[in-house]
Amino acid sequence: MSKAETTTMPTIKMAKSNKKSSMLVKDLALDVKVEVGRLIQQLKNAGIEVSNENDSITEKEKKKLLDYLQEHHGAKEAGPEKIILRRAKTSEIKVAGSQGARKTVSVQVRKKRTYIKRTETQANASAATPAPQEQLIEETPPVLLTEEVITTPETSVDGTTTTTETPAVKQPADKTKKAKPATVSTPVKQKEKRHTDLDDEEGRLKKKKKIRSGREEDIHQYDSMIGKGVHLDFALSEEAENILEQRRRKGARARKTVQVQAFTKPTAPMIHEVNVPETISVADLAQKMSVKASEVIKVMMKMGAIVTINQVIDQDTAVLVVEEMGHKPKLTSEYAIEEALTKEGNDITGEATHRAPVVTIMGHVDHGKTSLLDYIRRTKVTSSEAGGITQHIGAYHVETQKGVITFLDTPGHAAFTAMRARGAKLTDIVILVVAADDGVMPQTVEAIQHAKAANVPIIVAINKMDKPEADPDRVKNELAKYELIPEEWGGETIFSPISARTGMNIDNLLDSILVQAEVLRLTAVIDSPARGVVIESRLDKGRGAVASMLVQQGTLRKGDLVLAGFEYGRVRAMFDENGKPVDSAGPSIPVEVVGFSGTPNAGDEFMIVSDERRAREVALFRQGKFREVKLARQNAAKLENIFQRMGDEKGQRILNVVLKADVQGSAEALTQALNDLATSEVKVRIISGGVGGINESDVNLAVASDAIIIGFNVRANLEARKLIETEGVDLHYHSIIYEVIDEVKNALSGFMAPEIHEKIMGLAEVRDVFRSSKIGAIAGCMVIDGAIKRNFPIRVLRNNIVIYEGHLESLRRFKDDVSEVRSGMECGIGVKNYNDIKPGDQIEVFEKIEVKRKL
Ligand code: GDP
Ligand code: MG
Repeated sequence: MSKAETTTMPTIKMAKSNKKSSMLVKDLALDVKVEVGRLIQQLKNAGIEVSNENDSITEKEKKKLLDYLQEHHGAKEAGPEKIILRRAKTSEIKVAGSQGARKTVSVQVRKKRTYIKRTETQANASAATPAPQEQLIEETPPVLLTEEVITTPETSVDGTTTTTETPAVKQPADKTKKAKPATVSTPVKQKEKRHTDLDDEEGRLKKKKKIRSGREEDIHQYDSMIGKGVHLDFALSEEAENILEQRRRKGARARKTVQVQAFTKPTAPMIHEVNVPETISVADLAQKMSVKASEVIKVMMKMGAIVTINQVIDQDTAVLVVEEMGHKPKLTSEYAIEEALTKEGNDITGEATHRAPVVTIMGHVDHGKTSLLDYIRRTKVTSSEAGGITQHIGAYHVETQKGVITFLDTPGHAAFTAMRARGAKLTDIVILVVAADDGVMPQTVEAIQHAKAANVPIIVAINKMDKPEADPDRVKNELAKYELIPEEWGGETIFSPISARTGMNIDNLLDSILVQAEVLRLTAVIDSPARGVVIESRLDKGRGAVASMLVQQGTLRKGDLVLAGFEYGRVRAMFDENGKPVDSAGPSIPVEVVGFSGTPNAGDEFMIVSDERRAREVALFRQGKFREVKLARQNAAKLENIFQRMGDEKGQRILNVVLKADVQGSAEALTQALNDLATSEVKVRIISGGVGGINESDVNLAVASDAIIIGFNVRANLEARKLIETEGVDLHYHSIIYEVIDEVKNALSGFMAPEIHEKIMGLAEVRDVFRSSKIGAIAGCMVIDGAIKRNFPIRVLRNNIVIYEGHLESLRRFKDDVSEVRSGMECGIGVKNYNDIKPGDQIEVFEKIEVKRKL
């Protein structure tokens, strides 16, 4: 029979510190619930002279006893062979504080299990020579015998399972701010009976301390370093248990056993990398951080949000929570929900083959966009049905001898930008139509900017070549300024002189498009569920919601369940651009779909889902979430996110403005005045300045370019107002020119990089350095000036020279994480990513104060 001590020891913490305190042996025995005689024997073994229970022992002696007991792990004491622990039972232990005050401490035993020493079972099984005791304690977990009732300690010893389950004894929560450092904790060997005591009462343990098991000497060193008495926990926290559980799963051997006296270790908190999908329930988020959902709810409450455990929160909120709880958020795809959906068997897999290019025609008004689209359509669209009525479905495709081309038939950058403002990328190639008799005009330039912003290659169609006054070289010259250089001049842009009226060279243009498409290597998978974008939608009197959609991947079929934006529905019927019913549509093919529950928005991406309930869930969720996100975006746009609106060109910060005025005169005056505000640091760019009310296209441009809208004596129309609201666009109405200028001036001032002033908040001197393999270096410090604050930048100074600049990893006073330590106090400081700290170094905490400048 082994003599291994297998008892679990309760945590004993003094609530108050008193270095001189001493106590009577009998009181100590009472406190730790050990028979007086036994305690005296232990004291004697530890070399402390006591003769009877009325002798008093000092802190020092207690410490000595503690050391002795730790060292021996109770090896010299015959302990019980079995222990029985019961789950989540607490008891109270009376502990003497200073001035003789008694403190009640709760001890919680978290599992109810019967353990037996392994040596015993091993001996039974193999009659092996017992290993030296120390080793056994280190490496051999006790064997779980039974999880049965506590009142049957004589449970059969047959169940010699080798489970390494570890019971936990919950330490008392003492993390309250007012808790003073403990001066001593006295571990004393306990008899089995004590466990029964432990089971007797329900605890009132509320707060739970994070306990991490660690190397004892680490703790010891740390604790004494920061001027604190030795403190022990004989418990494995829930967290430690979780870790052990994980290790066990990995097949690693759990090293902590019931008899190990685990110390509370001042480790850096465990930082999890938390995957945050687009949405997540509070419970799931908590699980990902390995905390209780109630913790998350608490944190969110502090942040001002009342949530329930099953509530689904959005990504932005979840990220805040994760950061607030000290973990690292990792954003998973914005379309996580969709991804989850595609995983239901909708993944786009398979061989990718060539697909037709999707083309948008842009250019200045009256340069011939509509004429070109019409000509191509009239002459090239294969109208299989004689007399088929041309349908406007937002796009059409043509079949040339060299290949298929799909045209989006809403020309101009307004539509292009509207799509882009919604995040959809439909267009592969832009045809920039420039009239040969008119040359580059303002909307030509805008179109170039929009195409470039979207990173879409441009093919220039020099139109109206049939006109005698056509001057294609002038067009080439003017476009060279915008980096559109013809191939014959050594550039890369295809220029195609055409006439939309006569049809001259149009075949050439189509060929050029296909050449460009080849360069782009456009591919798609045909044999897969469809995905794509809604081009436009409307409510049809007879057919209900009708949506024109462009398939980008896979094949859309009649009967498919489609989810697009907030809407979903089964494809009841599909029609091509000739109004002819079709059963399927592959990549780059536009179709008109009937069967949606409502009208999805232009620019909404669509996908196929397998389950109607799921489709409804997602659609509903999006409706709710969209509102929130939009709202949040609106607020952000209005408050501090002003920098987002700043394009940054050559170090100059740029405020994009969409300007609409009542008359040309005021538009010009304002443009002039606003341009004059430019400095080397900031400037205003009027991306669009015109006369008339603010319409939807203006708003889309502002969205796509992160611009503010200024309306001078004009107002937004209804559609524009709706869009402004949903997109959170910054709109300003004015009627006095200098007010506009003042406001823009203020905005620009906000964009100017503020001057940064520094203020030193506190200085601490490193007295001692404690190193641990797990948590790096912890500097035991004395704050000698000001206050050390947790969340500010710091510098490490050696001989008054800055040797490191960074942040604090941890700031602790005794065991507690604190946010601030004032002058004259000691603290433990861990510097993030810096371990070379030495005694004598100084740690300086400073604050960066931004001082705004004015234009
Ligand atoms: P959009 O505003 O860019 O769509 O231009 P339109 O297609 O509406 O054309 C504007 C005007 O230019 C119309 O009167 C057309 O007939 C005319 N037009 C368009 N293309 C040509 C062309 O190649 N040659 C000539 N002579 N006129 C053209
Ligand atoms: Mg037109």
